[in-house]
Amino acid sequence: MECPRCGGEIETYSLAGHDADICESCGYVGVAVEHQSEPEEFESWTDALERFYEEQSA
Ligand SMILES: [Zn+2]
Repeated sequence: MECPRCGGEIETYSLAGHDADICESCGYVGVAVEHQSEPEEFESWTDALERFYEEQSA
């Protein structure tokens, strides 16, 4: 699988029973929400991780 943002390699992590596709090159995070449970939690997590990457690149 490749990143839709930068074309880099995607790593898949398991988060609370869900799979998250994360690109370490650009910070892209894709979460497969199959059950639509706790969507706000995953959005918060995505925002936090993206902010983490932005701070590192700043
Ligand atoms: Zn990427």
